[in-house]
Amino acid sequence: MSKILIIEDETKIARFVELELKHEGYEVQAAFDGRAGLALFESWQPDLLILDLMLPEISGIEVCRRLRQQSDIPIIMLTAKDDVSDKVMGLDMGADDYMTKPFAIEELLARIRVSLKKHRLDRNEADSALAVGKLRMEPASYTTTFDGKPIALTKKEFDLLHYLWQHEHTAISRDELLLNVWGYDFAGDTNIVDVYIRYLRQKIDDPYHVKTIHTIRAVGYIFRYEEQL
Ligand code: CA
Repeated sequence: MSKILIIEDETKIARFVELELKHEGYEVQAAFDGRAGLALFESWQPDLLILDLMLPEISGIEVCRRLRQQSDIPIIMLTAKDDVSDKVMGLDMGADDYMTKPFAIEELLARIRVSLKKHRLDRNEADSALAVGKLRMEPASYTTTFDGKPIALTKKEFDLLHYLWQHEHTAISRDELLLNVWGYDFAGDTNIVDVYIRYLRQKIDDPYHVKTIHTIRAVGYIFRYEEQL
């Protein structure tokens, strides 16, 4: 069953939502300020977050901004009536949806179901196999093959190729690759990207006479599959 975290300083609302969600069969935990909410997020790893924007300690907007650096879980904001600028800021910070207080619990439950379902569909897309020509990669089993023959990639090489391939025909900067493949807090310089691109070319392009990752000068790299005659 999905785990839902509520961060809301109005304890009456938090408790009410918690009870209703538990009644629906969800696992639920509540925090009453931004700092405690972030800590609980880290330790408990929920599947969905219900986040009040007006919070003590750390604001809901800031909580949202920090969580988005490390997680793509659905976030449903709770906002005060007519708080349009907060709403916009929250959505800009990566929240998926919002509810204006006071709200009907049935509507919140419906939005939770929609958000969780959409997130699962997104996840499935990220897990689905990619194939072009004789090259194939399967994220579910972390395997890459050419004409059925396995190519031994390290996890980083796999993730790098997968990221570029998922964005095929789009030039991706070294910074974006560092951020999305190595993680936000990686403090190295972008040369590491070039090194790993070279490994991939040595393992795929050279032996199988194809060109997969192209260099875009002054920008970065692009995935475009071409067979070399
Ligand atoms: Ca509040």
